[in-house]
Amino acid sequence: MKLCRFQLFAFPSGELTREEHEVHPQPSTGIIENEEVWELSGEPQEILGVLAGNGAHAELARTGHNWPVSEVQLLPPSRPSKIVCVGRNYAEHAKELGNEAPREPLIFLKPPSAIIAPEEPIALPAISQRVDYEGELAVVIGRRCHALGADDDPSSYIGGYTCLNDVTARDLQKGDGQWTRAKGFDTFCPFGPVLETSIDLAHATLETRVNGIRKQSACLAEMIFSVDAIIRHMAQVMTLEPGDVIATGTPSGVGPLAPGDVVEVSVSGIGTLRNRVVGPQG
Ligand code: ZN
Repeated sequence: MKLCRFQLFAFPSGELTREEHEVHPQPSTGIIENEEVWELSGEPQEILGVLAGNGAHAELARTGHNWPVSEVQLLPPSRPSKIVCVGRNYAEHAKELGNEAPREPLIFLKPPSAIIAPEEPIALPAISQRVDYEGELAVVIGRRCHALGADDDPSSYIGGYTCLNDVTARDLQKGDGQWTRAKGFDTFCPFGPVLETSIDLAHATLETRVNGIRKQSACLAEMIFSVDAIIRHMAQVMTLEPGDVIATGTPSGVGPLAPGDVVEVSVSGIGTLRNRVVGPQG
Protein backbone atom coordinates (compact mmCIF):
# COMPACT_ATOMS: atom_id res chain seq x y z
CA MET A 1 0.00 0.00 0.00
CA LYS A 2 1.29 3.45 -0.94
CA LEU A 3 0.51 6.40 1.30
CA CYS A 4 1.38 10.02 0.66
CA ARG A 5 1.02 13.48 2.03
CA PHE A 6 -0.07 15.97 -0.62
CA GLN A 7 -1.59 19.29 -1.38
CA LEU A 8 -3.45 20.41 -4.45
CA PHE A 9 -1.50 22.55 -6.84
CA ALA A 10 -2.49 26.17 -6.44
CA PHE A 11 -4.38 27.09 -9.59
CA PRO A 12 -3.94 30.67 -10.82
CA SER A 13 -6.84 32.76 -9.56
CA GLY A 14 -9.68 33.02 -12.06
CA GLU A 15 -8.71 29.68 -13.61
CA LEU A 16 -10.03 27.33 -10.96
CA THR A 17 -10.88 24.04 -12.55
CA ARG A 18 -12.05 22.40 -9.32
CA GLU A 19 -15.05 22.90 -7.08
CA GLU A 20 -14.26 25.30 -4.27
CA HIS A 21 -14.64 22.58 -1.61
CA GLU A 22 -12.03 20.47 -3.31
CA VAL A 23 -9.28 23.09 -3.08
CA HIS A 24 -7.51 22.35 0.16
CA PRO A 25 -5.02 24.94 1.28
CA GLN A 26 -3.51 22.55 3.84
CA PRO A 27 -1.81 19.18 3.42
CA SER A 28 -3.85 16.00 3.34
CA THR A 29 -2.92 12.35 3.63
CA GLY A 30 -3.87 9.95 0.88
CA ILE A 31 -3.56 6.47 -0.47
CA ILE A 32 -2.40 5.98 -4.07
CA GLU A 33 -4.19 3.45 -6.27
CA ASN A 34 -4.11 3.32 -10.08
CA GLU A 35 -2.50 6.76 -10.44
CA GLU A 36 -5.21 8.34 -8.27
CA VAL A 37 -4.77 9.81 -4.79
CA TRP A 38 -7.67 8.98 -2.45
CA GLU A 39 -7.86 11.33 0.49
CA LEU A 40 -7.88 9.78 3.97
CA SER A 41 -9.36 11.33 7.09
CA GLY A 42 -7.11 11.61 10.12
CA GLU A 43 -3.64 12.92 10.82
CA PRO A 44 -0.68 11.20 9.15
CA GLN A 45 0.81 10.19 12.51
CA GLU A 46 -2.50 8.54 13.52
CA ILE A 47 -2.66 6.71 10.21
CA LEU A 48 0.91 5.48 10.68
CA GLY A 49 -0.06 4.16 14.10
CA VAL A 50 -2.96 2.20 12.59
CA LEU A 51 -0.62 0.76 10.00
CA ALA A 52 2.27 -0.28 12.24
CA GLY A 53 1.85 -3.93 12.98
CA ASN A 54 -1.37 -4.17 10.91
CA GLY A 55 0.08 -3.48 7.45
CA ALA A 56 -2.20 -4.42 4.59
CA HIS A 57 -4.99 -5.39 7.00
CA ALA A 58 -5.33 -1.88 8.42
CA GLU A 59 -8.71 -0.17 8.02
CA LEU A 60 -8.25 3.38 6.76
CA ALA A 61 -11.13 5.88 6.53
CA ARG A 62 -11.48 7.57 3.12
CA THR A 63 -13.16 10.96 2.66
CA GLY A 64 -14.43 10.03 -0.82
CA HIS A 65 -12.35 12.73 -2.59
CA ASN A 66 -9.76 11.71 -5.16
CA TRP A 67 -7.49 13.33 -7.77
CA PRO A 68 -5.05 12.10 -10.41
CA VAL A 69 -1.53 11.92 -8.91
CA SER A 70 -0.37 14.28 -11.67
CA GLU A 71 -2.66 17.01 -10.30
CA VAL A 72 -1.34 17.04 -6.75
CA GLN A 73 1.92 18.12 -5.23
CA LEU A 74 3.48 15.33 -3.16
CA LEU A 75 4.92 16.42 0.19
CA PRO A 76 7.48 14.65 2.38
CA PRO A 77 5.53 11.57 3.50
CA SER A 78 5.89 12.23 7.24
CA ARG A 79 6.69 15.10 9.59
CA PRO A 80 9.41 13.62 11.81
CA SER A 81 10.58 14.94 15.18
CA LYS A 82 14.03 13.74 14.10
CA ILE A 83 15.90 12.03 11.28
CA VAL A 84 18.31 9.42 12.60
CA CYS A 85 20.90 8.19 10.11
CA VAL A 86 23.38 5.33 9.92
CA GLY A 87 26.87 6.00 8.57
CA ARG A 88 28.97 3.43 6.70
CA ASN A 89 26.33 0.70 6.54
CA TYR A 90 27.59 -0.74 3.23
CA ALA A 91 31.12 -2.20 3.21
CA GLU A 92 32.01 -0.89 -0.27
CA HIS A 93 30.96 2.67 0.67
CA ALA A 94 33.02 2.62 3.89
CA LYS A 95 35.98 1.50 1.77
CA GLU A 96 35.55 4.15 -0.95
CA LEU A 97 35.94 6.93 1.63
CA GLY A 98 38.89 5.17 3.30
CA ASN A 99 36.99 4.04 6.42
CA GLU A 100 36.72 0.75 8.29
CA ALA A 101 33.31 -0.90 8.47
CA PRO A 102 31.91 -0.09 11.94
CA ARG A 103 31.48 -2.77 14.62
CA GLU A 104 28.09 -1.41 15.70
CA PRO A 105 25.78 1.03 13.90
CA LEU A 106 27.32 4.51 13.69
CA ILE A 107 24.45 6.96 14.11
CA PHE A 108 24.00 10.69 13.62
CA LEU A 109 21.13 13.15 13.25
CA LYS A 110 19.88 15.44 10.52
CA PRO A 111 17.61 18.31 11.58
CA PRO A 112 13.97 18.35 10.40
CA SER A 113 14.67 21.82 8.96
CA ALA A 114 16.69 20.08 6.22
CA ILE A 115 13.60 18.32 4.84
CA ILE A 116 12.32 19.13 1.36
CA ALA A 117 9.62 17.53 -0.77
CA PRO A 118 9.99 15.53 -3.98
CA GLU A 119 10.70 17.94 -6.87
CA GLU A 120 11.81 20.72 -4.49
CA PRO A 121 15.32 22.05 -5.25
CA ILE A 122 18.46 21.15 -3.27
CA ALA A 123 20.36 24.41 -2.66
CA LEU A 124 24.16 24.16 -2.64
CA PRO A 125 25.61 26.26 0.21
CA ALA A 126 28.23 28.87 -0.70
CA ILE A 127 30.61 27.66 2.01
CA SER A 128 31.07 24.15 0.56
CA GLN A 129 33.01 23.24 -2.58
CA ARG A 130 31.89 19.60 -2.58
CA VAL A 131 28.29 18.50 -1.98
CA ASP A 132 27.49 14.81 -2.55
CA TYR A 133 24.29 12.85 -3.07
CA GLU A 134 23.76 9.74 -0.89
CA GLY A 135 20.81 7.62 -2.01
CA GLU A 136 19.31 5.64 0.88
CA LEU A 137 16.36 3.54 1.99
CA ALA A 138 14.43 5.39 4.72
CA VAL A 139 12.25 3.71 7.33
CA VAL A 140 9.39 5.70 8.87
CA ILE A 141 8.40 4.78 12.41
CA GLY A 142 4.72 3.95 12.95
CA ARG A 143 4.41 3.80 16.75
CA ARG A 144 6.46 4.94 19.69
CA CYS A 145 9.49 2.75 20.18
CA HIS A 146 11.91 2.74 23.10
CA ALA A 147 14.28 0.24 24.71
CA LEU A 148 12.98 -2.87 22.97
CA GLY A 149 12.99 -6.10 24.94
CA ALA A 150 14.47 -9.32 23.58
CA ASP A 151 10.98 -10.50 22.57
CA ASP A 152 9.98 -7.24 20.85
CA ASP A 153 9.91 -7.39 17.06
CA PRO A 154 11.49 -4.14 15.74
CA SER A 155 9.65 -4.45 12.42
CA SER A 156 6.29 -4.11 14.20
CA TYR A 157 7.20 -0.46 14.89
CA ILE A 158 7.66 0.38 11.21
CA GLY A 159 4.97 2.46 9.48
CA GLY A 160 6.55 2.23 6.03
CA TYR A 161 9.50 2.76 3.74
CA THR A 162 10.56 5.54 1.39
CA CYS A 163 13.58 6.94 -0.48
CA LEU A 164 15.91 9.54 1.03
CA ASN A 165 18.85 11.57 -0.22
CA ASP A 166 21.31 12.20 2.64
CA VAL A 167 22.89 15.23 0.96
CA THR A 168 26.32 15.86 2.47
CA ALA A 169 28.89 18.68 2.27
CA ARG A 170 31.84 16.26 2.01
CA ASP A 171 34.58 18.87 2.50
CA LEU A 172 32.97 20.20 5.70
CA GLN A 173 32.37 16.64 6.97
CA LYS A 174 36.09 15.89 6.73
CA GLY A 175 37.17 19.19 8.23
CA ASP A 176 34.72 19.27 11.13
CA GLY A 177 35.29 15.75 12.49
CA GLN A 178 31.63 15.58 13.51
CA TRP A 179 28.85 15.81 11.01
CA THR A 180 26.13 18.22 12.12
CA ARG A 181 27.12 21.04 9.77
CA ALA A 182 27.95 18.84 6.77
CA LYS A 183 24.64 16.97 6.97
CA GLY A 184 22.42 19.71 8.34
CA PHE A 185 22.01 22.44 5.71
CA ASP A 186 18.49 23.46 4.71
CA THR A 187 17.34 21.32 1.72
CA PHE A 188 19.84 18.52 2.55
CA CYS A 189 17.12 15.96 3.36
CA PRO A 190 14.77 15.27 0.45
CA PHE A 191 12.59 12.24 1.14
CA GLY A 192 9.63 10.57 -0.53
CA PRO A 193 7.81 10.37 -2.87
CA VAL A 194 5.48 7.96 -1.03
CA LEU A 195 5.41 5.70 1.98
CA GLU A 196 5.22 2.05 0.94
CA THR A 197 3.92 -0.02 3.83
CA SER A 198 5.71 -3.21 2.90
CA ILE A 199 8.76 -4.04 0.81
CA ASP A 200 10.83 -7.15 0.29
CA LEU A 201 14.03 -6.12 2.08
CA ALA A 202 15.78 -9.34 1.06
CA HIS A 203 15.41 -8.62 -2.67
CA ALA A 204 14.79 -4.86 -3.10
CA THR A 205 17.40 -2.74 -4.87
CA LEU A 206 18.47 0.89 -4.56
CA GLU A 207 19.63 3.07 -7.43
CA THR A 208 20.79 6.70 -7.62
CA ARG A 209 20.99 8.56 -10.94
CA VAL A 210 22.35 12.00 -11.75
CA ASN A 211 21.05 13.49 -15.01
CA GLY A 212 19.83 10.00 -15.93
CA ILE A 213 23.22 8.32 -15.44
CA ARG A 214 23.36 5.51 -12.88
CA LYS A 215 25.80 6.31 -10.05
CA GLN A 216 24.79 3.97 -7.21
CA SER A 217 23.27 0.52 -7.45
CA ALA A 218 22.96 -1.99 -4.61
CA CYS A 219 20.80 -4.63 -3.01
CA LEU A 220 19.37 -3.58 0.35
CA ALA A 221 20.45 -7.00 1.62
CA GLU A 222 24.07 -5.76 1.37
CA MET A 223 23.58 -3.56 4.45
CA ILE A 224 26.03 -4.41 7.25
CA PHE A 225 23.34 -3.84 9.91
CA SER A 226 19.79 -4.87 9.08
CA VAL A 227 16.82 -2.54 9.49
CA ASP A 228 15.76 -4.48 12.60
CA ALA A 229 19.23 -4.24 14.14
CA ILE A 230 19.33 -0.48 13.40
CA ILE A 231 15.95 0.16 15.07
CA ARG A 232 16.93 -1.90 18.11
CA HIS A 233 20.23 0.00 18.40
CA MET A 234 18.67 3.47 18.04
CA ALA A 235 15.84 2.68 20.47
CA GLN A 236 18.43 1.95 23.18
CA VAL A 237 19.43 5.60 22.93
CA MET A 238 16.35 7.64 22.08
CA THR A 239 12.59 7.25 21.91
CA LEU A 240 11.52 6.94 18.29
CA GLU A 241 8.21 8.71 17.69
CA PRO A 242 5.59 8.03 15.01
CA GLY A 243 6.73 9.76 11.82
CA ASP A 244 10.42 9.71 12.75
CA VAL A 245 12.68 8.85 9.85
CA ILE A 246 15.61 6.43 9.88
CA ALA A 247 18.09 6.72 7.00
CA THR A 248 19.78 3.34 6.64
CA GLY A 249 23.05 4.35 4.96
CA THR A 250 24.30 4.74 1.42
CA PRO A 251 26.03 2.21 -0.85
CA SER A 252 29.22 2.95 -2.80
CA GLY A 253 29.24 5.36 -5.71
CA VAL A 254 28.71 8.67 -3.91
CA GLY A 255 29.74 11.73 -5.89
CA PRO A 256 29.31 15.47 -6.31
CA LEU A 257 26.31 17.55 -7.37
CA ALA A 258 26.46 20.73 -9.45
CA PRO A 259 23.87 23.44 -10.16
CA GLY A 260 21.43 22.24 -12.81
CA ASP A 261 21.83 18.53 -11.97
CA VAL A 262 18.75 16.37 -11.49
CA VAL A 263 19.28 13.66 -8.87
CA GLU A 264 16.98 10.64 -8.52
CA VAL A 265 16.91 7.99 -5.80
CA SER A 266 14.83 4.88 -6.56
CA VAL A 267 14.05 1.88 -4.40
CA SER A 268 12.27 -1.01 -6.09
CA GLY A 269 8.69 -1.31 -4.91
CA ILE A 270 8.60 2.30 -3.65
CA GLY A 271 9.27 4.71 -6.52
CA THR A 272 11.62 7.56 -7.39
CA LEU A 273 12.54 10.63 -5.37
CA ARG A 274 13.62 13.39 -7.78
CA ASN A 275 15.14 16.79 -7.00
CA ARG A 276 17.07 19.28 -9.01
CA VAL A 277 20.07 21.17 -7.72
CA VAL A 278 20.48 24.94 -7.59
CA GLY A 279 23.49 27.07 -6.76
CA PRO A 280 23.95 29.18 -3.63
CA GLN A 281 20.83 31.26 -2.93
CA GLY A 282 20.76 34.97 -2.16
ZN1 ZN B 1 24.16 8.76 4.51
